[in-house]
Amino acid sequence: MNHNLFATFAERMQARGDADFITTREGRGYSYADALAESARLAGALSELGVQQGDRVAVQVDKSPEAILLYLACLRSGAVYLPLNTGYTGEEIRYFLNDAEPALFVCRPADAAQARQLAGETGCPAVETLSSATDGSLMDKAAAATPREEIAELGERDLAAILYTSGTTGRSKGAMLTHRNLGSNAETLRQAWHFCAEDRLIHALPIFHTHGLFVACNVTLMTGSSMLFLPKFDADVIFEEMPRGTVMMGVPTFYTRLVQDSRLTPEMTANMRLFVSGSAPLTAETHEAFERLTGHAILERYGMTETNMNLSNPYEGERRAGTVGMPLPGVEYRITDRESGEAVPQGAIGMLQIRGPNVFVGYWRMPEKTREELLDDGFFITGDLAMVDERGYVHIVGRDKDLVISGGYNVYPKEVEQLIDELDGVQESAVIGLPHPDFGEGVTAVVVRQAGAPLDEGEVLAHLDGRLAKYKRPKRVFFVDSLPRNTMGKVQKNQLRREYDATYR
Ligand code: ATP
Ligand code: MG
Repeated sequence: MNHNLFATFAERMQARGDADFITTREGRGYSYADALAESARLAGALSELGVQQGDRVAVQVDKSPEAILLYLACLRSGAVYLPLNTGYTGEEIRYFLNDAEPALFVCRPADAAQARQLAGETGCPAVETLSSATDGSLMDKAAAATPREEIAELGERDLAAILYTSGTTGRSKGAMLTHRNLGSNAETLRQAWHFCAEDRLIHALPIFHTHGLFVACNVTLMTGSSMLFLPKFDADVIFEEMPRGTVMMGVPTFYTRLVQDSRLTPEMTANMRLFVSGSAPLTAETHEAFERLTGHAILERYGMTETNMNLSNPYEGERRAGTVGMPLPGVEYRITDRESGEAVPQGAIGMLQIRGPNVFVGYWRMPEKTREELLDDGFFITGDLAMVDERGYVHIVGRDKDLVISGGYNVYPKEVEQLIDELDGVQESAVIGLPHPDFGEGVTAVVVRQAGAPLDEGEVLAHLDGRLAKYKRPKRVFFVDSLPRNTMGKVQKNQLRREYDATYR
């Protein structure tokens, strides 16, 4: 049996024929039949460029339908797709080229000169450019190439992609994902979220992370439904497209912006059947505001580069605000004590671990890190802290690395942040631990005020007095205009820790 995920996609794509697969606002796009044909031409070009089965193809390009065709061509040929954040600088690209040793680097046309130089320095044999059907050398090569119709014969553990983690807690790690990892998750999500051929997904996420690439595109391909590709989140565009969409996948910042917009109404969302949120925590307030304004309960799910999606609120049944729901079919989880490693009782906070066909096979060229995080019994240590409530819904409490240990006591930042956020005049907050000579770490709050709110440090501290045990209360409160966030809306606590590092020293 061929485990190539493309074999499964190809069957479904064939069945959909001239139906839309991917379109842009400008009316460009590909039907399923076009995408099949074009992926064969691109696979032909890859082969002529010397890319062989198992070779990495590193890709740093702007979002376009053609980038997804290139992903499909890699799957078809058994090459390993390796997308890179469009924000990476030359220095960062050098690191990734050295680390991944790709056989081909595909970049934006404007970056070609720099890419050639970096490729030369790192020993990458080929560079091509890609931006759209009519711009870039790769599509020209594809047009002239002999199509490669053949689908590479692959086993269960063959890699489909190396996807670098977001780098929220340190240097990005390359997660090795097999065809089976991606295929099992796409099929599970298709069923769990009731995808059907008539669905039209509003796609405004970047395509170099698991959310926009695998969750969105693989589910679409598994289903034979269609996607509208938008370059980025723009509320005006989203509202123009919503009457023709059925599903949207977003990061929490999409939703916090939408609920502040008077155009968000039940009429506006009448054609939509599902709003999914993930990549970072969605606050209960945003969930509730969205439901009040539209009648739709956002479906929050939890996942990561290493595992694709693993927990999800139910499609049918209550979607509980502030929770990420239950394990998807085929996925197991356990919550263990930080010190003893034993399973904790229901209601207690511990380390969240995941096992299932979706769990990656290791970090690229990081055997030690792989051994630390991927246990012998198949469970993966996610690095997140979690708690399961009495109804079986999992709550993500925060990252293990963000846990503050002050005077020997554990302080969960989320608990403190939630109390601060309740205060009038607070827009949002981040609680971090900073080196402290007496306490080991000093609890510290960084707060964003609502526009014009005259809030000061004393008022924040007074609000927490009596509501929180003394050891959990921040020793200092700092005010900033906004919290540092990456493209997926994740708060960069590392950056805050660096900035305020000297506070108690
Ligand atoms: P790195 O591993 O490099 O530090 P990262 O963990 O942010 O970066 P990703 O794999 O993109 O990289 O993100 C996965 C993480 O995102 C999860 O471990 C979790 O912390 C967070 N996350 C995803 N979905 C949710 C959610 N619904 N609620 C809370 N956190 C979430
Ligand atoms: Mg991570």
